[in-house]
Amino acid sequence: MLIFEKSKSGRHCSLFPPCDVEVVDVPAKDQRKAELHLPELSETEISRHYTELAKKCRGVNDGFYPLGSCTMKYNPKINDDMAALPGFAEVHPLQPEHTVQGCLSVIQEIETLLCEVTGMDRLTVQPAAGAHGEFTGIMLIKAYHESRGDFKRNKIIIPDAAHGTNPATATMADYKVVTIPSNEHGCVDMEKFKAVLGDDVAGLMLTNPNTVGIFDENILEITKLIHDCGGLNYYDGANLNAIMGVVRPGDMGFDVIHLNLHKTFSTPHGGGGPGSGVVGCKKLLADFMPGYLVDGDAVKKFVKAPKSIGDMKAFYGNFLVVVRALTYIKTLGKEGIPQASKNAVLNANYMMNKLKDLYTMAYDQICMHEFVMSLEDLKQKTGVSAMDVAKALLDNGMHPPTMYFPLIVHEALMIEPTETESKETLDDAVAVFRKLYEEAQTNPQALHNAPVTTPVGRLDEVKAAREPVLRYEWK
Ligand SMILES: *Cc1c(COP(=O)(O)O)cnc(C)c1O
Repeated sequence: MLIFEKSKSGRHCSLFPPCDVEVVDVPAKDQRKAELHLPELSETEISRHYTELAKKCRGVNDGFYPLGSCTMKYNPKINDDMAALPGFAEVHPLQPEHTVQGCLSVIQEIETLLCEVTGMDRLTVQPAAGAHGEFTGIMLIKAYHESRGDFKRNKIIIPDAAHGTNPATATMADYKVVTIPSNEHGCVDMEKFKAVLGDDVAGLMLTNPNTVGIFDENILEITKLIHDCGGLNYYDGANLNAIMGVVRPGDMGFDVIHLNLHKTFSTPHGGGGPGSGVVGCKKLLADFMPGYLVDGDAVKKFVKAPKSIGDMKAFYGNFLVVVRALTYIKTLGKEGIPQASKNAVLNANYMMNKLKDLYTMAYDQICMHEFVMSLEDLKQKTGVSAMDVAKALLDNGMHPPTMYFPLIVHEALMIEPTETESKETLDDAVAVFRKLYEEAQTNPQALHNAPVTTPVGRLDEVKAAREPVLRYEWK
């Protein structure tokens, strides 16, 4: 039942203190003509309503959530304790700098630490999400070429394993996308890559390890070839979980990178945010950075980059997300950061090896932080699809992995266990996957019918996307 349907006219909870400022009449032209319909409920009813909704949700606190590419790791609660400190939570973005020196230190410190992790020279915390960071980074590349009077570069090269936001970003920045197919190992096909190089290339967008969980061995050659033809290299670091503290994109030859703090750096995501897609760059792009950077030692101040591309968001990004990520980094420390990545890789390989005698792996080789299975064989034999298995996982207490992505693998399930899961959890998940494989042979109909234990069964996802109902119509 929607909160609107529970509304009783005149019922309320008195949360507002009496007004202690002069009441001013809103000018007639600004007054609302129609009645403002808001649901009217008591505090008890509101509390129960949202508790009921919360129980219908599934998150990382409910159980295993191996959503590949998304890094649904546990978000330590100490992050929230730090973000709730009044000195962080109650500041205003227009406060004078000398009253928020601590907040400026947070931005400066995370910049230093993430530059260390990525091999970059400057970092902005302004972008609000991964895709937003990508757009920022590509605009930096564009500003760089244009500042040199180089307007002929109109292409961005992107491998076909890329996240869909990469071609979307390049297109939004007015570039032509050149797609490079992957070879049989899931890596960039070098011959096809070399064939598209030229002085019309603005840059490359690449994720390494890529979205099939494979580290591209030719990475140094790839980034060098781009530099040789005058282009720049963009690293999609939305998910850095396999490599943080182990190998640095800056050392692989990348010039600019975004990171999703809401993936690798343990700030919550799902439910629409808020997120943070910080962007780091090498010196040659620093003058174009957006928004405000923090400079200064004893006294810190906001500075604008001399040839800034302009603001990407109001003020200083989602600041409390930055506080959470900094807490996480400092909690793990220099030893913990690479250990987290190594455990993430170990967990993925453990699960892959426990499943590969039954399920077909898209790439049967050592994986990084995630692996992709193809259920094409299973579907041909039994009629049970990746979607059926994903839905049946819900009845077995597990959130499904990422499905039908990356697009280059048919009937794909992409599993990223993350480092925050125990061996017992992984063993339980393996047992569920194995059970469902058997069930596909003996009782495929049961999998077609799943889920049967969730508040709703199979939804019409296309209709929900094409004809979303976003407003309640008051009768
Ligand atoms: C999640 C992800 C993105 C997009 O990040 P958003 O915060 O959802 O915009 C981009 N690239 C990769 C590889 C990702 O995993």
